[in-house]
Amino acid sequence: MADFIRNAEMEHPISFNFDNTYARLPERFFARLEPTPVRLPELIKLNEELAQYLGIDPEELRTVDGVRILSGSKNAKGAEPLAMAYAGHQFGSWVPQLGDGRAILLGELVASDGARFDLQLKGSGRTPFSRMGDGRAVLGPVLREYIVSEAMHCLGIPTTRALAAVSTGEGVVRENLLPGAILTRVAKSHVRVGTFQFFSARKDGDAIRALADYVIQRNFPDLKTGASPYHDLLREVVARQAKLVAKWQLVGFIHGVMNTDNTSVVGETIDYGPCAFMDFYHPDTVYSSIDQSGRYSFGNQPGIAYWNLGCFAQTLLPLLDEDSAKALSQAEEILGTYPDLFQQSYLLGLSKKMGLLKELDGDQKLGQDLLRLMEQNEADYTLTFRGLSPLGSGNGNANGSVRHLFKKPDQFDEWELRWRKRLSEESFSPAQREQFMKTVNPAFIPRNHLIEEAIKLAVDDNDFSEFHRLVEVLSNPYENQADTEKYAVPPRPEQIVRATFCGT
Ligand code: AMP
Ligand code: MG
Repeated sequence: MADFIRNAEMEHPISFNFDNTYARLPERFFARLEPTPVRLPELIKLNEELAQYLGIDPEELRTVDGVRILSGSKNAKGAEPLAMAYAGHQFGSWVPQLGDGRAILLGELVASDGARFDLQLKGSGRTPFSRMGDGRAVLGPVLREYIVSEAMHCLGIPTTRALAAVSTGEGVVRENLLPGAILTRVAKSHVRVGTFQFFSARKDGDAIRALADYVIQRNFPDLKTGASPYHDLLREVVARQAKLVAKWQLVGFIHGVMNTDNTSVVGETIDYGPCAFMDFYHPDTVYSSIDQSGRYSFGNQPGIAYWNLGCFAQTLLPLLDEDSAKALSQAEEILGTYPDLFQQSYLLGLSKKMGLLKELDGDQKLGQDLLRLMEQNEADYTLTFRGLSPLGSGNGNANGSVRHLFKKPDQFDEWELRWRKRLSEESFSPAQREQFMKTVNPAFIPRNHLIEEAIKLAVDDNDFSEFHRLVEVLSNPYENQADTEKYAVPPRPEQIVRATFCGT
């Protein structure tokens, strides 16, 4: 069943606390246009808690008018809809003109705590940037983005969020005719590395400066008062990407399309296409059907983020120094901080996943050895670490659940002995350690086969029950929950999903 809609028509317009700063930038930054109305919008899911935080009354969003707004069929009061211009490197190849081809930014909401969020419809019809596309989104990918982006948020990973999913009552032509849907996406910013590249490629220095000033003003206001805000902007974007990708690696998230147009400058995970979480640990894992060469494999993600940051740095060169040689060396110096920042963040996280809070020699090797064993033994990434948590407190034993995740359990036993020896150097009590490890090693991730199952039920049978259940279980990923065995375990061989599709 889809989510319920209140039948009442609104007497007054629904109140949105809009303050649309992007719409005040020069006109060449975007195209102003209205979303295209759809035939029969129905609410699939409303994120009530997020609506409340954004200062929108969820009850109002549930009315016929609210659902019409969420489907692009009615204007929201105070919205100034526009499609943003951007460019980007897609799979390493330069594309000078991309832009919101199927998304429309309604405006910017000021939340109850003063934080600002873009409110965007994805799948809301053609725009001047649609190229050959129809501007529409398909139900399956909309549900995937809803599930995974909310799961990421609940895992504590910076991400755009999903406010609502609606079905459009219209068919969308892909290989087959598929049901259409629209996602309402919320982001701290939709400015991408590709937005800077768009102007850089046009040698539009004024626009680069205006865009950099915009990002600083809106997202990093503390940098304004520093001695060199543009250098600090680069530093901040580099640091945020390093920390973000470290977090991805620590939960096994594979973005799938890490193009520069899908790289947010505020360090949020953005543009959930053929993304997926890894079950069995292997650095070469790729799910995206369009990633034939494995450019965006799990193990390549940290390096690709570095490459994308290089593209970003290049766009800022004119702002760093009038002397281009000096600008280049300053950019290189800042970019050069990325590998260490990534490593620090990642290794600290890996140690925590093993329950190690002191930093001692040999910790890195202990972690890397475990990963290598997992790779050789096709062990489940999530379950291995979750299973380590009670082991560390002495509640588990060598015959417990973790060793059986390994094809050759005795290889794990050897590692476990080394690990226990290392644990004895920590000062936490075993119970405290178990508690702590459970806050960094999730029990639940959005497993690909479960997402596919939820999508299949919704598309084939108009049954959204699994979608709702999955979102609910994933909203509490670090807590054990009753009756959730199915959501915690990796796929059986016949359930494994080997490829994911963009669905564009
Ligand atoms: P993505 O691969 O989803 O990041 O999209 C890459 C580019 O293709 C962006 O400029 C999108 O706006 C555009 N695009 C993707 N799907 C569609 C569609 N169905 N209609 C129009 N443009 C699209
Ligand atoms: Mg994109």
